[in-house]
Amino acid sequence: MSVKMNLTRAQFDEVMVPNYAPSPVIPVRGQGSRVWDQQDKEYVDFAGGIAVTCLGHCHPALVGALKEQGEKLWHLSNVMTNEPALALATKLVNATFAEKVYFANSGAEANEAALKLARRYAVDNYGPEKDEIIAFDKAFHGRTFFTVSVGGQAAYSDGFGPKPQAITHIPYNDIDALEATVSEKTCAIMLEPLQGEGGIINGDPAFLRKVRELADKYNALVVFDEVQSGMGRTGDLYAYMGTDIVPDILTTAKALGGGFPIAAMLTTTEIASHFKVGTHGSTYGGNPLACAIGNAVMDIVNTPEVLDGVKRREQLFRDGLNSINDKYHVFSQVRGKGLLLGGVLNEKYQGRSRDFLLAAIDNGLMVLVAGANVLRFAPSLIIPEEDIAEGMARLEKAIAQIVEA
Ligand SMILES: *Cc1c(COP(=O)(O)O)cnc(C)c1O
Repeated sequence: MSVKMNLTRAQFDEVMVPNYAPSPVIPVRGQGSRVWDQQDKEYVDFAGGIAVTCLGHCHPALVGALKEQGEKLWHLSNVMTNEPALALATKLVNATFAEKVYFANSGAEANEAALKLARRYAVDNYGPEKDEIIAFDKAFHGRTFFTVSVGGQAAYSDGFGPKPQAITHIPYNDIDALEATVSEKTCAIMLEPLQGEGGIINGDPAFLRKVRELADKYNALVVFDEVQSGMGRTGDLYAYMGTDIVPDILTTAKALGGGFPIAAMLTTTEIASHFKVGTHGSTYGGNPLACAIGNAVMDIVNTPEVLDGVKRREQLFRDGLNSINDKYHVFSQVRGKGLLLGGVLNEKYQGRSRDFLLAAIDNGLMVLVAGANVLRFAPSLIIPEEDIAEGMARLEKAIAQIVEA
């Protein structure tokens, strides 16, 4: 900054809307899977900015793409298309089931587009009565009013006045509830193939197959929210590729820009045709700067080297967590897939995930929580093995502090 200001955490409470409770330290720079704060204290990053910085901090290819495009063309609006957007859309289409791409800037916006498209598709094809969206308890789809309403956490959706209607929530992985709920009125079933914010809960293969089967039977669309599980996180480019089913609409964000805001909704040509000129849009969506970076991320992540590396690192994480647990007995289970893992706190530590997060920060480690009972790990997909080892050593110290307190 050109004007020297003495910026502190205390100022957050003075000048920011109090909808977050950020931790006491303020990081100022990062490199790979290490981050440094204002006092130059170093942290190992097992959080990845909530599954976003998939190639770590300041990856040279991403910095290069940012600088190159930054000196060429930042923004046009969708009155004109641009080369980085065309290139990234082509890569996404070539790599997935999808034939068409809509760009947005955040996960919530991609999901908002998906929900509106699913409703429009049903109205156009089957009439206005086919409007029901089936969604799942504990699901997280973003913070716009439609997406929090489809999400399964009342704390995020209630208290804002009348909600979007015709949304039914049922328990995740519950085949009986699904069979009892899907009907001719259902226009879409929306889910995360691996629930993230809800506590790192793997979609059961039989449940996912039933979702597809019932959606087909009742002419409903399957919408996969892969905002967190996508872009290599599970060891497949998209988590659906590791399941037996293919969705009709898929949303991707978080890691797609490796730290630069970008999101996309992917679908088939037939479904996409129900968004006509003017039906939906975004000022920044498909912005050349964001797409240039998305291209660089895609080129690196969608390679056997990185995707196989995720599976190798998953094993290192599981081994590390299990060996800490053998000593300290804090987790009842480690679940998730690839580098989206959750250590489920056992009975004795219920409700205390944030204490573990803060103890980790004290010991130079950034981790995440997923609710009050799960410690979440979503590091860079290319985190060096020595950083995993060092992070595990710091985690062990943090856990020892809590267990021995
Ligand atoms: C983070 C997340 C979102 C919301 O993304 P934003 O970019 O914060 O709008 C939506 N769905 C899932 C599964 C997420 O993890």
